[in-house]
Amino acid sequence: MVFGAVLMMLAVTAPDLYLAANAVRPIITPTPVMTQPALVQLTINSEQLIITEPAAKTPPKETAREPEKYDNAWAFYLVDKDNPLPAGFEVMLFALGEEDEWWREVDLRIAGYVGQMLEDSARDGVHIVIIEGYRTIERQQEIYDRRINYYLELGLTPAQALLVTDTEVARPGASEHNAGLALDFASGNYDVYSFEETAEFAWLAENSWRYGFILRYPEDAMHITGFIYEPWHYRFVGVKRAREITESGLTLEEFLMQLCAE
Ligand SMILES: [Zn+2]
Repeated sequence: MVFGAVLMMLAVTAPDLYLAANAVRPIITPTPVMTQPALVQLTINSEQLIITEPAAKTPPKETAREPEKYDNAWAFYLVDKDNPLPAGFEVMLFALGEEDEWWREVDLRIAGYVGQMLEDSARDGVHIVIIEGYRTIERQQEIYDRRINYYLELGLTPAQALLVTDTEVARPGASEHNAGLALDFASGNYDVYSFEETAEFAWLAENSWRYGFILRYPEDAMHITGFIYEPWHYRFVGVKRAREITESGLTLEEFLMQLCAE
């Protein structure tokens, strides 16, 4: 079965096997979510990746454990107000689950990174939980509308409500959550607003790049990213780029501008 073969390939190439030299077993066992027919087609921006059966049977070539080996170039693109996802964008999802206390869906290609990050952080004694991963366009619309209404009820004018909401919630199709590449994290109390003061946040600040994630909306960067400081929101851009961006101290937008200028 093509789908099974694809999953097997992805499971074998998942970075958790390479990053966890001493892992006896993975903590998570991602459950495939069938969102498409047997032939897997992924559309990333205008590029379409089609995984066929022969490709799925090809054994993985990379076996090194160094995260630097993984440039994950497919994940390095901008999703923001000016760069929404293309119409018809589709993503293959994995539902991550652990002991019934949380489950979330992400792009299946990053499931191994997320699982490994949670496993390694737990080994370091911090308890990171996923608040939310992938969102459908419909869910994004709901969240956006709810925020608008919240501000209208507070007495803001429609124009003011739009203005403020646009700094807090991406519009449908313009959210990294819609791409399945962003996750909101919290500590065990599930409170994103106090997340910055937790050991879990400190651990992510130190280590998230190792698993391909950057803090996407840093403090004092609203004039660049368009969004308020979100200590809970992390975006997968690939290990190589996450390392470069973290070391640079730049936002994704600034980093891309710098790349273009080179
Ligand atoms: Zn988020």
